[in-house]
Amino acid sequence: MTEHMHGAHDNRNQGKGGRQLNEQIASHRPSRMFIEFACECADRNCAAPIVLTMDEFEGVRREPARFAVRLGHQAPALERLIETTPRYAVVEKHARH
Ligand SMILES: [Zn+2]
Repeated sequence: MTEHMHGAHDNRNQGKGGRQLNEQIASHRPSRMFIEFACECADRNCAAPIVLTMDEFEGVRREPARFAVRLGHQAPALERLIETTPRYAVVEKHARH
């Protein structure tokens, strides 16, 4: 006769660091980090810094004619304004044939 009197199962396996740590890491994914890029406006000598996240930058780059420029660096004669954000503007170069 064996006496296993452990009636209550002890399921307290959680809260041991690893899970919590990974959730912290996941919330700081690189795609959410601000990265400093150089302004891509019509002025070739311009190197004004603009700040985008990787997601935003890739969104702009998805369209080959689109460029991220510093606010106020748009050149309406050469480019069409696509959108402005508090940190940068997105312009699209007019197609020239
Ligand atoms: Zn510029």
